[in-house]
Amino acid sequence: MAKLADIRNLLIDMDGVLYRGKTGLPGGPELISFLEEQGIKYLLVTNNSTLTPEQFVERLDKMGIHVSEDLIMTSGVATASYLATLAPPGTKVNVVGEEALVSEIKKRGFIIAGRDAEYVVCGWDKTITFEKLKIATLAIRDGATFIGTNPDKTYPLEKDIIPGAGSILAALIAATDVQPIIVGKPEPIILEQSMRVLGAKPEETAILGDRLETDILGGHRAGITTILVLTGISSAEEAAHYEAPPDFIFEDLPALIDAWAKELATERTR
Ligand SMILES: [Mg+2]
Repeated sequence: MAKLADIRNLLIDMDGVLYRGKTGLPGGPELISFLEEQGIKYLLVTNNSTLTPEQFVERLDKMGIHVSEDLIMTSGVATASYLATLAPPGTKVNVVGEEALVSEIKKRGFIIAGRDAEYVVCGWDKTITFEKLKIATLAIRDGATFIGTNPDKTYPLEKDIIPGAGSILAALIAATDVQPIIVGKPEPIILEQSMRVLGAKPEETAILGDRLETDILGGHRAGITTILVLTGISSAEEAAHYEAPPDFIFEDLPALIDAWAKELATERTR
């Protein structure tokens, strides 16, 4: 049975955990202070590849959460660092995605290319065109390795549900009959890249998220402890019937911090 007191590294999902839309959720700043006081290492991990780590730092800053850029792991950062394990700098990469993703790929020394690319990286792109889909399709048909930043088919706005990265991937899958390697949650690559950054062992690591089919399933596949908070997508009812139930469920961040602090205090008096 997993224990909160054994967790030395925490991978924190952001949307539905630290904030909802542009509004901070209760306990966000307190969670970061708690982790720092306890010497527990953490990384903020998101499937969203359309903002750079700097832009996430700015967004969090407005909510009273002050972290540095190197603590933000977007699926764009994870994809670029994963690509660096497959191919040397100078390799040609075709990118279907926004500026934030392009800049992560360039930072690793890859060359942005068209049909002659050896890799096609596809993320969420709100400026998608037929031309971009066509070039990526031709490159994949010519043999380029096909990588997707994240599988999320949709993106929930306050009132509407709009196409996400997974919808663009679906167009490329239809046009090429090739299934991409997916980096984002629930695939383990983003969590493995995060643990590499922290120098973390799976048995001492947990993921904290609001969504069963990404955060909790991803944590399960990566062999780490899973913690669900009920401030986002998934409910306690859904969690009870889920194929990979979370190790811990908390109403919100203050409830998690409270339980965790109590467990650590009990361990210390032993
Ligand atoms: Mg979330």
